Amino acid sequence: MNTIKTTCPYCGVGCGIEATVEDRATHRVTIKGDANHPANFGKLCSKGATLGNTVSLENRLLYPQIRGQRVDWDTALDHIAVKFNRIIVQHGPEAVAFYVSGQLLTEDYYVANKLMKGFIGTANIDTNSRLCMSSAVVGYKRAFGADTVPCNYEDLEQAELILLVGSNAAWCHPIAFQRIRKAKENNPNLKIVVIDPRATASCDIADLHLPVKPGMDALLFNGILAYLQQNGLVNQPYVDTHTDGFELALSEAMKTAGSIEQVAAGCGLTSEAVGTLFDWFANTDKTVTVYSQGINQSSSGSDKCNAIINCHLATGRIGKPGMGPFSFTGQPNAMGGREVGGLANTLAAHMDLENPEHVDRVGRFWGSDKVADKQGLKAMDMFDAIATGQIKAVWIMATNPVVSMPDADKVKRALQQCELVVVSDCIANTDTTELAHVLLPATGWSEKDGTVTNLERRISRQRPLFPASGEARHDWWIICQVAQRMGFGKAFNYQSSAEIFREHAALSAFENDAEHQLRDFNLSAFAEIDTLGFDALQPVQWPVIAEQTTGTARMFADGRYFTANRKARFIPVTPRPPVNSSDTDYPFTLNTGRLRDQWHTMTRTGLATKLNAHRPEPFVEIHPADAERLKLKARSLAQIQSRWGSMLARVEINPGQQVGSLFVPMHWTDQNSSHGRMGAVVNPVVDPYSGQPESKQTPVNIGSWPAQWYATILSRQPLQIAAAEYQVSVRGDRYFRYELASTEFGKDWRTWGRALLACVEQREDDNCWLEYSDPQAGYYRTAYLPERELRACLFVGPDCDLPESGWLGSLFAKSELSRAERLSLLSGAPPKGEADIGRIVCSCFNVGEKTIQQAVQAHQFQSVADISACLSAGSGCGSCVSELKEFLPKPT
Ligand code: SF4
Repeated sequence: MNTIKTTCPYCGVGCGIEATVEDRATHRVTIKGDANHPANFGKLCSKGATLGNTVSLENRLLYPQIRGQRVDWDTALDHIAVKFNRIIVQHGPEAVAFYVSGQLLTEDYYVANKLMKGFIGTANIDTNSRLCMSSAVVGYKRAFGADTVPCNYEDLEQAELILLVGSNAAWCHPIAFQRIRKAKENNPNLKIVVIDPRATASCDIADLHLPVKPGMDALLFNGILAYLQQNGLVNQPYVDTHTDGFELALSEAMKTAGSIEQVAAGCGLTSEAVGTLFDWFANTDKTVTVYSQGINQSSSGSDKCNAIINCHLATGRIGKPGMGPFSFTGQPNAMGGREVGGLANTLAAHMDLENPEHVDRVGRFWGSDKVADKQGLKAMDMFDAIATGQIKAVWIMATNPVVSMPDADKVKRALQQCELVVVSDCIANTDTTELAHVLLPATGWSEKDGTVTNLERRISRQRPLFPASGEARHDWWIICQVAQRMGFGKAFNYQSSAEIFREHAALSAFENDAEHQLRDFNLSAFAEIDTLGFDALQPVQWPVIAEQTTGTARMFADGRYFTANRKARFIPVTPRPPVNSSDTDYPFTLNTGRLRDQWHTMTRTGLATKLNAHRPEPFVEIHPADAERLKLKARSLAQIQSRWGSMLARVEINPGQQVGSLFVPMHWTDQNSSHGRMGAVVNPVVDPYSGQPESKQTPVNIGSWPAQWYATILSRQPLQIAAAEYQVSVRGDRYFRYELASTEFGKDWRTWGRALLACVEQREDDNCWLEYSDPQAGYYRTAYLPERELRACLFVGPDCDLPESGWLGSLFAKSELSRAERLSLLSGAPPKGEADIGRIVCSCFNVGEKTIQQAVQAHQFQSVADISACLSAGSGCGSCVSELKEFLPKPT
């Protein structure tokens, strides 16, 4: 057995992993947290812990294809190079584009950017990180003169006040959140404030939750700035010595947010709550403000970031332990993408496209006189240009824009009419691969070899556990092969990812000294790293310079920034509401986001059955008052509609929602749901500086979807089901689950069910079937169990009250059902004395809500610790702790 240290490929926390390969042939691997990795010290969340279940060859793209036909690599690569070259000759370099991803490794990203910006000669390369943190980049660059994250995880542990703004870290950055939770346990003086329109799982440890009106965060932070000034709490020596622009920013803050009452009214909060926040912020030196997609995904996201940074500059709370404005990035290598210039508005190694010195420097380093000197098209503009035919060839790498982009149906139409769509991915069937003319198989997480950078600037190695599957190749290799065929061979003749990393490091160090104006991103210590050194590379925070090879934990300790005069800049912020506000036709504001146990479009997490049990279907959260007014019943289906598109989702009634607000998760696609793709609904509005879409605020309406029948099917085999308007498929442990519904009247359920569930010869063998039918009331239930082994069961009803899958699903683990189980089967509930665990709450230990309810009642548990001691729930990754609390008796 072979234990390999690598890095989790999901969120930006960047947890270290120890993977022990048990069987190479079958891809059997044991995963545990790396106790020595400084990001997680051995902890993993539910997603990281189940990585071993996602490395099979299921749904892997294993060989190149052109228009659905298998071809060899040479044919595919030649085809792309010839077509790209022809389009560039005929229409210029602006007619081609790359759309890449925060899932790529830094080395992949580096060569993609080098090819497009350095040799094709256009900056038409953008990344799905545009949707995630591009506003944070603008915020940092405007304030610091460079895209520099000042803080680290230890600051979270040393802080005395942490603001979580637009960040449900409990679900989206679970291990970082666990560190905050632990810090609070260790330091009762640590206060946590959650600023978020909805009450999320992160509120579990909050001393104060401010359910701010959607989109109004900048007003709140302008208010803090004004309050600091009004109370004589501005750190004037710091402001005078280390910053520019304070007066203007302050004047705007005073004008827009000069009193607590003004801020409270604008933000929809009580004056008391706003006053408490202001008081805590003003009087707590060690303050960290964590912000994430709730801030970034906004038409004023860049300004919101700067409104936050302004408050830290005004107090000098930056560059010191336990303080700073800390952007949490979503993806595993969003930061690596920023380093290499993966965004259409940045050049490599944190240099700028609009700076002629930078363009010249990069050109001399790369040996190219074609380096792009103006910004390319950002994601939204890029797909618009594809739609109009301005861009004629696009290469999409490791991402799924047909699901994740706003106004996603328009993106789909754009790709359908594009002359050449190349998709390189490790997954065969996605909503985007379906539209590809050329499909290129890339290596997956367990095969990749390179580096990623987490959200605290820490570079870690991803190391391969297995050789590449099928004919898959590393992304960097694929890009370099196309580059060579396009005529740029000398510059792309790399033999390994180590060689690319070395060049990336050397570029970061090239003319990076006081004479040429220091740049923040500097890996000079690695400019000559050899293959052995690369293989042994330990997690380290950049900059890593020859004089300080242990890296840099915290930036700006000396108060010197990367602007021309080395001073930070205040940015005056005028708070703006979302561009599209709700109206009589679309009276609700739709918020979107991640779930605890899924990642992006579920291509990998969807393979881990444990992860599917927490939230198996697309849902929409709605406040109880709105649900009652609209007569929306829990678990029924609702249609959510905007001016751009619509989706269907199960109703979840949640008092944590604001009245007039809705929330839907981002993960479902056309591959696993008929109408669960939220991107189709989201408005195509962007921040004017960052180009980041306003994915958190779309005006929508919601109404009951008039289903005439609902059905649940569990089957040992995957089924091809036609003719159900609503359909969601979910992978369970040894079974496949299908949720169906339709607005059309019912069918001959017996004929339909038997045809669907059983092979032809056994359809009429009544010994194999259990059946219950009440046609008058619209109920039909049947189970197919030849030789007493459950193969499939079907439950149909006129409404959504169908059996849950917990106990039913567990029956697929048995080769033969007992008499009692067979008698109970069609009731959907276990026989007396047998446990039904219910919906899974704790994914680590597979503990369901019914088990927890029963244990809490039976033992009179009063704390999560009691539950954990009895059931283990909550003692693994800890992501479910907030949900466990809901089962405890409420304090009187
Ligand atoms: S918090 Fe979870 S998803 Fe994020 S890197 Fe760590 S294990 Fe992976």
